[in-house]
Amino acid sequence: MSELKRILVTGGAGFLGSHLCERLVDAGHDVICLDNFFTSQKNNIHHLLDRPNFELIRHDVTLPIYLEVDQIYNMACPASPVHYQHDPIATTKVSVAGAINMLGMAKRVGARILQASTSEVYGDPDVHPQPESYRGNVNPIGPRACYDEGKRCAETLFSDYHRQHGVDIRIIRIFNTYGPRMHPYDGRVVSNFILQALAGEDITIYGDGSQTRSFCFVDDLVNGIMAMMNNDSGFVGPVNLGNPGEFTIKQLAEMTIELTGSKSKLIHLPLPADDPTQRKPLIDLAQDKLGWEPTIPLAEGLKKTIDYFASLDLDHYRKPTNHTLH
Ligand code: NAD
Ligand code: UDP
Repeated sequence: MSELKRILVTGGAGFLGSHLCERLVDAGHDVICLDNFFTSQKNNIHHLLDRPNFELIRHDVTLPIYLEVDQIYNMACPASPVHYQHDPIATTKVSVAGAINMLGMAKRVGARILQASTSEVYGDPDVHPQPESYRGNVNPIGPRACYDEGKRCAETLFSDYHRQHGVDIRIIRIFNTYGPRMHPYDGRVVSNFILQALAGEDITIYGDGSQTRSFCFVDDLVNGIMAMMNNDSGFVGPVNLGNPGEFTIKQLAEMTIELTGSKSKLIHLPLPADDPTQRKPLIDLAQDKLGWEPTIPLAEGLKKTIDYFASLDLDHYRKPTNHTLH
């Protein structure tokens, strides 16, 4: 086993953060999960609470905190469009002030720090598929800007702390990821479609459904995140992490209906403003530098996610935002 470390995961109770915490706890590391439960609930980490090498801190990452750790995974940020547009000013603050606080901690204690950036830094891309060298097409004043520009500014801060102070950084750009522990009411396309299909409700396709996304199963992604954090070659990123399989939203709806055996009908609702028309990662850099690529096909990952949602007691979940915000 590699050397045991003290590891901070901000946003550790969220969808991705909880899987990361679980993997790190199972590997024997001393894990601190920091979260203010803005878009998550304790359910995600309930099974970790009595593990002796797991500690939970309820805290807002935009406020200073002093901890001594060896590695920081900076995952805290509302991630679904419905969640991050719920309080857009708070979203920018999480990305920017949160990054400054965590980078300050990394600088003070000499920790390595990884930033969970996003394919949204490419905006509505006019280069397809997207390589890391593409600088993006983001509307700085649109409804997605709080997230896109917040994450872009966080990348700037990480790069400047690296250049100016020699902080040991890693930047990953995560493409759409799905799986168990997504919040059932986050409004993302995978959770929406599965819940609708299981309930026999109409499947809400925004626009004509020809827009594309590439969907990565969470287990694959967590392998990539950890590979990047523990890469000692001097490669700091940014690196795309995602599954290059590209599907239209209509295809995803049809696949969800087929896998659930649902009688739901497809309906069309207006396309939200600035909704990217296509998205697919080039992952040559991840393959080359990390030896990483996803292995779980969409149908297999969707089945696991459907089983998870089917097992949930939805009464135990708060609806943090209006399900039909669009
Ligand atoms: P999530 O909403 O499930 O998790 C985010 C977590 O951060 C939640 O537990 C939330 O309560 C917490 N949080 C939010 N604001 C906070 C604050 N001010 N202080 C402390 N905690 C706070 O979302 P996720 O899908 O797990 O995303 C995790 C990270 O990965 C985010 O930074 C997101 O931008 C990034 N990302 C995710 C995807 C994806 O497809 N899942 C894609 C690109 C990037
Ligand atoms: N979408 C949809 N129906 C829904 C939810 C989302 O058609 O009920 C579409 C959305 O317009 C976008 C795609 O699915 O084109 C992915 O949306 P999501 O919110 O999951 O994340 P995004 O990739 O846009 O950040």
